[in-house]
Amino acid sequence: MKVLDLQCAHQHVFEGWFGSEDDFHQQLERGLVSCPLCGDQRVEKKLSAPRLNLRAGRDAPGAAHRPEGLTLSNHPAQAELAELQARMLKAMREIMVNTEDVGERFAEQARAMHHGEIERRNIRGQTSAAVALELLEEGVEVMPLPLLPAVKDTLQ
Ligand SMILES: [Zn+2]
Repeated sequence: MKVLDLQCAHQHVFEGWFGSEDDFHQQLERGLVSCPLCGDQRVEKKLSAPRLNLRAGRDAPGAAHRPEGLTLSNHPAQAELAELQARMLKAMREIMVNTEDVGERFAEQARAMHHGEIERRNIRGQTSAAVALELLEEGVEVMPLPLLPAVKDTLQ
């Protein structure tokens, strides 16, 4: 199993799990790899900083005279954002894996658990904002999740 840091054309950074690096290239060619955030299929392996520097040194005339690493630098804020995105996606995936999707029955199920009518388990689902507020007022622990349908797709 190989974990690759991948990046789509919109600079979303995410992890991809493949049997090997060849596996990744094959799946990419067959259009099976897409960004879990935006669905973009223009995915490539995230270039590491040293490789970026090498490329700049080769392509840019005169760059050889400059100290390495100055011609191209990672924008810290962007790197941080990408890191955050990657972490959020990972957390979302964990939630998806560890919860049962009860869809529209969410409020009903959450209430029943709160009142001890059914056994407690981790669930996720949909409800209106008004009902979510009601649940919170009743003391039912609910947490809003960002809507990321693409995350779910990557699980299959
Ligand atoms: Zn993307």
